[in-house]
Amino acid sequence: MELRSLVTALFALLFWTPQLAASRAGPEVLHRDVCIIGGGAAGTHAAIRLQQKSKSVTLIEKEALLGGHINTFLDPRTKAAFEYGVAVFNNVSLVRDYFDYLQVPLKSFTGWVPNATAVYADLARGNDLPGPTSNMSDFLPALNSYKAQLEKYPYLATGFHLEYPIPEDLLLPFGDFCKKYDTRAVAQYLFPSNGGYGNLLATPTLYLMKQSSMDQVQGILTNDAVNNAARGRNQALHEVARTRLEKNRNDVFVSSRITRVDRTGESGVVVHINTPRGKKAIRASKLVIAIPPTLSTLTPFMDLTNDEYVHFRQFNNSYLWAAVVKNSGIPTTASLMNLDPAAPLQIPAMPQIYGTTPTPIKDLHVVWYRSPHLVPDWEVKSHIEEDFNRLYGRGAEVVVLKNHSPYLLEVALDSVQAGFYDGLNRLQEKWDTFWTGAAWKTNDSTAIWKFNEEVLLPMILASLKGRG
Ligand SMILES: Cc1cc2nc3c(=O)[nH]c(=O)nc-3n(C[C@H](O)[C@H](O)[C@H](O)COP(=O)(O)OP(=O)(O)OC[C@H]3O[C@@H](n4cnc5c(N)ncnc54)[C@H](O)[C@@H]3O)c2cc1C
Repeated sequence: MELRSLVTALFALLFWTPQLAASRAGPEVLHRDVCIIGGGAAGTHAAIRLQQKSKSVTLIEKEALLGGHINTFLDPRTKAAFEYGVAVFNNVSLVRDYFDYLQVPLKSFTGWVPNATAVYADLARGNDLPGPTSNMSDFLPALNSYKAQLEKYPYLATGFHLEYPIPEDLLLPFGDFCKKYDTRAVAQYLFPSNGGYGNLLATPTLYLMKQSSMDQVQGILTNDAVNNAARGRNQALHEVARTRLEKNRNDVFVSSRITRVDRTGESGVVVHINTPRGKKAIRASKLVIAIPPTLSTLTPFMDLTNDEYVHFRQFNNSYLWAAVVKNSGIPTTASLMNLDPAAPLQIPAMPQIYGTTPTPIKDLHVVWYRSPHLVPDWEVKSHIEEDFNRLYGRGAEVVVLKNHSPYLLEVALDSVQAGFYDGLNRLQEKWDTFWTGAAWKTNDSTAIWKFNEEVLLPMILASLKGRG
């Protein structure tokens, strides 16, 4: 053997590894009934329900954990856990059945700490305030008035299946609707929990009613709306779901990047992914996309059809962050409501802190921040710290900050009136592709699971059956 060939052969031997051999052999090919992209509330629930119906599923998530907007904070000192993302679910049979199937216990949600109180402040100017202009006693009559209006539109309870012409009241900015039906106290008291709206009073009532739905109103009226996992960790739901999915014929790929989705074959789709366990190609009969359907989230890995492109490019979104803040200065068992005395209904203009809650750990508070436009994370962090330091001067420190953007996908009202959502719904099932998640229903886990149950699953199961 020539010296050069010998050296080449030695090098080849040195660098040969089973992984290299596998990568040369191409990706591992997996054949599944359904491939689901996005392991948040919508995607994980769809995967579990399809598994229950004896379908084989692959679930792909880019983050290390399933759960999407769920953020459980684990305090390293005390080992106590609390939620600073999704915290509560409606106390309805669908939620109870889901948790029951996964054997994750539920308990009544009574807030982050027992007997929490409220303080009020104008954070922008650093002033304490006595409270909002509406009394708490105005709230129940206002909520009942809101409920009476909501009852007129039962079709808002499923996906976006609207009736035309869209009723005038649904097109009103929520501020005008509040004046018309005397529901101002609803706007004031629900503002801190109606996460994500850039400007609540300018938001069309249609979107508000999708978010503050009959299930939510019913829950507030009966004081029995919401539960969370008894372990104090909503993340547990998704940990168990993952274990359950991985049990038979299903795969969950976390920390994985989709490189290409190919929908050009005669039937079905092929999804190419880079995973910590190597490259995979998922050949699936059906594809479910459970991530926000924006051009920036989808186009990096898939070619959109003209119809998809025309619809998704119309979505606007707001921006939302959740933080855990140390030494904010807010009294330990109090939440702080941020008010602007000069603004309509004292609701401050965004970007701003819109809600806070005390936690079981004395010096930590959860803080939610929203903006109608993009703000860099570092600016959100310093805005939060400056606001609390201006008011209390205690050296507030953001311990952790999660960016939940893009949040609340909406389109312009003239587009809604022109039938945007009918066109959006017609995208379902085209190119063996199905869509689910907040944009197709609303930003509420219970409502999304209802959408999966009533709209998504029947469609997928029927189309899989159609394949024989
Ligand atoms: C701070 C906060 C608190 C909330 N609190 C509540 C609450 O208490 N109760 C409630 O019902 N609702 C709450 N919500 C509303 C919440 O938006 C919905 O309930 C629900 O989580 C939305 O689910 P989803 O599956 O549509 O989206 P997501 O939960 O966002 O799931 C989408 C998933 O797709 C993944 N993904 C994105 N791109 C890719 C990609 N390219 N490849 C693979 N994976 C990808 C994401 O990482 C994510 O896991 C809260 C939201 C926020 C932001």
